[in-house]
Amino acid sequence: MESAPARVRKINLYGKRLLIPMMHPFGAPLLAACFRAFGVDAVVMDTYKGLFLGKEYTSSKECFPCQITLGDVLFFLKHEKQRLGEEFRACDYVYFMPESDGPCRFGMYNKMQRIVLDTIAEFKDINVSYLSTEDSYDCGEILPLRDAGEFKKLAYLASIVGDVLDRIVLRARPYERKKGSTDRLASASLDRIISIIEEEGRNIPLSLLLEEVSRTAREAASLMDTLERRPQIGIVGEIYVRSHPWSNEHLIRKIEAYGGEVTNATVGEWLNFVSFENFRKLKREIEKQVREARWISLFSLWKGWLSHFLERYYQRQKQRQIYEAALAYLDIHPDHPVEELREILEREGLYSFEVGTEACLSIAGAIKYIEEGFDGIINVFPFTCMPSTICSAILRPVLRERRIPYLDSPHDGTIQPGRELALRTFMYQALLRCKSKKGGRG
Ligand code: SF4
Repeated sequence: MESAPARVRKINLYGKRLLIPMMHPFGAPLLAACFRAFGVDAVVMDTYKGLFLGKEYTSSKECFPCQITLGDVLFFLKHEKQRLGEEFRACDYVYFMPESDGPCRFGMYNKMQRIVLDTIAEFKDINVSYLSTEDSYDCGEILPLRDAGEFKKLAYLASIVGDVLDRIVLRARPYERKKGSTDRLASASLDRIISIIEEEGRNIPLSLLLEEVSRTAREAASLMDTLERRPQIGIVGEIYVRSHPWSNEHLIRKIEAYGGEVTNATVGEWLNFVSFENFRKLKREIEKQVREARWISLFSLWKGWLSHFLERYYQRQKQRQIYEAALAYLDIHPDHPVEELREILEREGLYSFEVGTEACLSIAGAIKYIEEGFDGIINVFPFTCMPSTICSAILRPVLRERRIPYLDSPHDGTIQPGRELALRTFMYQALLRCKSKKGGRG
């Protein structure tokens, strides 16, 4: 029998049901819609209902997102088996768990989960497939080659649209006149965008998405009261837990309930970072080959470099257009360009892109928020997360010195009695900072 890592492979998704774990409430359904637009039967699984299963099959040394997503797939399969009875065949499903290269454990989730699925007789035939940061999420083996590039472009557009929808909600909801109106608007808008993606598929005109984003921003602006701006809270941290409201105990809504307005780091920031890093790696490799006068492999390296260059150009253009469609009606917070984050780290000498991981983005992102006048920073992460622990160790003293309210918010699915108090204290500090900036007594 093949080893577990060998049984995690990129396979053609046609004819299978693709199971996507929920991460961001906008991003995950939009990604599933992109797959459906290309003829793949993709669904987003219910989330957090199977956490007890995820915990049962792990030792608790694993990262929290690994436990959550394992629980999600086990919960889904158990219910699917109950629903279909004798007709249930695990081999009809593909569990989709992307991975990253580098020092982080995210590269191991799908292998570890494969091992668990192999121990359960009725589920061991399920396929586990992935996309990887290592090749910039190349889709060539999961979709026909003629579709792979088009799909990747559509998935990028959908991710940025998801980010912008999120920013619209975060900007409008704290000031809405009628409670719940912003969430209702966003939910209706998400449904419409999903329909557009499914119907238009690979030939989707960008203008259709832009119209929908503009319309959502315009309507969100009309729901808002002209109230004084609240303390601005910037969230950085680990992408899964900060994007997945269930695992971070609905932190953003709590901050809003305590009088804050939140900007959360985006999914697009991570995608841009992956492209940026692969582009840099290729550039370094080309320089090395030239130094060593090894000309033979240079042609394919140049080709790769050019394709990454064009990809980054595409991403920058499309991201700008989608944000501008919203900005015409609502002053949402723009995304942090990765190049700028790198410059901040170099200037401040706090960390380096050479070390990698999300810590690059979180540390620089927090400093950028401060430069933009934010009143407090929260670092949201799974308990024991390696990059976020580094981030905390670096940010805590730096922000204390600059007298910026800062809070670590680690999560592992348990209820921490002190969390509420810590959050309220943090919000009080942020409010004082906000008032003092406006010239109040604080
Ligand atoms: S970023 Fe943190 S939670 Fe994610 S794999 Fe790495 S250590 Fe685990």
